[in-house]
Amino acid sequence: MPLQDIKERIDAEERRMGKPAGQTKLIAVSKVQPNERVEAVLVEGHRVFGENKVQEAAGKWPDFKGRFGGVELHLLGPLQTNKTKQAMLLFDVIHSVDRPKLANKLATLSTELGHCPDLFVQVNTGKEPQKAGVMPEELDAFVAQCRGLGLPVIGLMCIPPADEEPSLHFALLAKLAKRNKLDGLSMGMSGDFERAIAQGATHVRVGSAIFGDRDYG
Ligand SMILES: *Cc1c(COP(=O)(O)O)cnc(C)c1O
Repeated sequence: MPLQDIKERIDAEERRMGKPAGQTKLIAVSKVQPNERVEAVLVEGHRVFGENKVQEAAGKWPDFKGRFGGVELHLLGPLQTNKTKQAMLLFDVIHSVDRPKLANKLATLSTELGHCPDLFVQVNTGKEPQKAGVMPEELDAFVAQCRGLGLPVIGLMCIPPADEEPSLHFALLAKLAKRNKLDGLSMGMSGDFERAIAQGATHVRVGSAIFGDRDYG
């Protein structure tokens, strides 16, 4: 099964880098995939999944969570302020914190709900205009602001530009995390997760290599 192959490749890369086995968390990205494929991976025993959209996740995960114990759900895509509460109730981890308005909303709702998912700040390492994420030069101030609000920021996340060597972006993200005393590094997808592990990824987000190509039909 592809899931097993990916796990073995992660193990091999951890060994190659001299890291303790099992240090890298594999997030199986199930967005757009048919429910049968997702269920097959749940049946195989995997419990850590990622989705891009709050609405799509809300349509399938309450049922899966009811049938399979111990699911850990990660939000990877952009979060609109008006969906923040729903996201906080559905997801265990949010990887896309990227602006003061969202940080403020998360802080207000944390007080109201009495809990907050673990958070990653998304960084636009390639400074792409169309892409979400805090600009690298604005990151330190934003992380400080989040901490000032009491938010549980555990790391940084990036999606490198499609046409550039991802390792350079992974190395930049690692440097920015270290400078901000953050341990978590959410980086690496189907095509580059080994390179991400080599640069210190703690969370890799792998979709199509596990589930097959997404059919956007
Ligand atoms: C879709 C997606 C992934 C997984 O992409 P694959 O290339 O299918 O592995 C990872 N991270 C984010 C933020 C995504 O949107």
